[in-house]
Amino acid sequence: MIKLGLTGYPLEHSLSPMLHEAALRAAGLQGSYSLYAVRPGDKKGLDSLVSRVRSGELSGLNVTIPHKQSIIPFLDHLTPPAQAIGAVNTIYLTDGKAVGDNTDTPGFLADVDRFAAVPASALILGTGGAARAVVYALWNRHCAVSVAARRLEQAQQLAERFPGIEAIALTPATLEGRTAGLVVNATPVGMFPHVEESPWPPDVTFPEGAAVYDLIYNPAETRLVHLARAAGLRAISGLGMLIEQAALAFELWTGHKGSQQVMLNAVTQSIP
Ligand code: NAP
Repeated sequence: MIKLGLTGYPLEHSLSPMLHEAALRAAGLQGSYSLYAVRPGDKKGLDSLVSRVRSGELSGLNVTIPHKQSIIPFLDHLTPPAQAIGAVNTIYLTDGKAVGDNTDTPGFLADVDRFAAVPASALILGTGGAARAVVYALWNRHCAVSVAARRLEQAQQLAERFPGIEAIALTPATLEGRTAGLVVNATPVGMFPHVEESPWPPDVTFPEGAAVYDLIYNPAETRLVHLARAAGLRAISGLGMLIEQAALAFELWTGHKGSQQVMLNAVTQSIP
């Protein structure tokens, strides 16, 4: 019996149980994927969950907001990407050790490679855990990365972590006239239920010829993706990355390649 799960807070709207349970069934594996809500600041709760992975009671865990960083002190080891990013989204057991990994980075790269290939320059909106996974992915591919944040100091901290990246304020004045081969939204602006919002200022022209990647996957077509397409740009939302990062985690936990088609079918009915 393979016991998997997700910790974070709140978790009610997570698509992960249906996605992973469908993949378990398709692989002919007996198991379950449960939600472990742990309130912000509940260190005992996080410690106890990691102990359950270490003891083998849980075969693996996903981690989401707000614990991608706060869970790190309870782990025995971090993979190089998780170490570099400073955020964990997947925990598995190896040689009795609870290992923290980050499958958002390879998940993003796999999907972006299909969509547009990594260009010479990119502009990332936001500086949270997902933004850092994206910055690390592009920075490793020698892409010139600019990060725009509503609090400039957050972008500057990211620039200290990844030398060479440019930190700018997320304002109409700084975005107007910028060039970039890829624009990535790594903020939650536009996510269900706030589907009329867009992180891109309404009066600012998109960088000419840019591909636009919105990490948000609910709704399937965000306002940003809609506006970018209307401006003649290629644009997609983050559903492909969701599936890629989940399939990578599934393989780390079970040793089986999760069927991406099965995972996709399991979640698409739930996304408007
Ligand atoms: P996070 O750690 O909370 O970071 C959110 C970032 O967005 C922060 O930099 C935050 O700035 C900024 N932000 C929030 N509201 C904003 C606003 N109104 N205007 C400008 N900036 C704003 O969240 P995360 O884990 O990085 O996730 C970000 C998004 O990516 C979410 O929508 C999540 O669902 C999505 N995501 C998708 C995938 C996928 O597989 N497709 C994977 C991971 C995440 P402050 O620091 O100033 O608050």
